[in-house]
Amino acid sequence: ATMPPLLSAIANAGRHGVLVKSAVVMERLGQVDTVALDKTGTLTEGVPRVTDVRPLPGSGMGERELLTLAAAAEHPSEHPLARAVVEAARERELPLPSVRDFDSTPGVGVTARVDGRRVTVGAPARLLGGATDAAAAHAAVHAAELEESGRTAVLVVADGAPVGLLGLADRLRPDAAATVASLTHLTGTAPTLLTGDNPRAAGRLAAEVGIEDVRAGLLPQHKVGAVTELERAGRKVLVVGDGVNDAPALAAAHTGVAMGRAGSDLALETADAVIVRDELATVPAVIALSRRARRLVV
Ligand code: ADP
Ligand code: MG
Repeated sequence: ATMPPLLSAIANAGRHGVLVKSAVVMERLGQVDTVALDKTGTLTEGVPRVTDVRPLPGSGMGERELLTLAAAAEHPSEHPLARAVVEAARERELPLPSVRDFDSTPGVGVTARVDGRRVTVGAPARLLGGATDAAAAHAAVHAAELEESGRTAVLVVADGAPVGLLGLADRLRPDAAATVASLTHLTGTAPTLLTGDNPRAAGRLAAEVGIEDVRAGLLPQHKVGAVTELERAGRKVLVVGDGVNDAPALAAAHTGVAMGRAGSDLALETADAVIVRDELATVPAVIALSRRARRLVV
């Protein structure tokens, strides 16, 4: 017997390295007219590296102590930024003290008790809030400087006081620009970028691949808000993401696709399809497969 078109499309998608979870999903992929891409781990390789370690003057801390505190607090986290911080400490052979009371907030950062101190590591804009003291002002200047150069800046706070910043840099996936071009061609609209990262770094990266619609500094629920807004305007949105922070948007979207290799368990479970081969270019490929199968189904 010959396979129904949607089932052979699923088999075909599998050969392209995409696990499509059902025939319904295979069909929906072809209806998509707008694509929203997450930045870290989706448009980029998601393997950031620490490029800068900057203790704040007055913190009484050196680079090694700052990195040790940050890495200890990040150790339990599976976030790509956390892995990079731990790796930087490992490269410098810094012994990490054990931590207690670890907690993380998607899109913001982590907090833990390290050597009797309460250490928080995360997005400077979120952690500084409206603080105006000298340390906060200093931290904001350093953060802006790092972000202007396309870095992700991460603030380290110890017992309520900012003590330093880390700069991290990630690389675009090699197929990022080509994928954005194919998606623009297929849907007639350039993809939207949804990211929890800062607007400066996000804008620079977006410009490199041909994305104009950049929505940065988003918490997980803001990503959902952006998707809902597009869908209310009549769009059928495909969200592509990898993180715990992307899971609500993956669930809310017409169709959600997760990056499989480095994707969080929650993203993989929530998504309608999973990119197993770790190539972004498989996204336009499966949209095209679905459209072809749908023409055969009638
Ligand atoms: P994206 O949407 O680009 O995948 P996330 O929502 O995961 O990014 O993170 C957004 C921002 O929150 C990061 O740029 C960082 O500033 C902060 N952040 C989140 N998790 C962590 C963490 N474990 N360590 C440090 N910073 C974090
Ligand atoms: Mg991500």
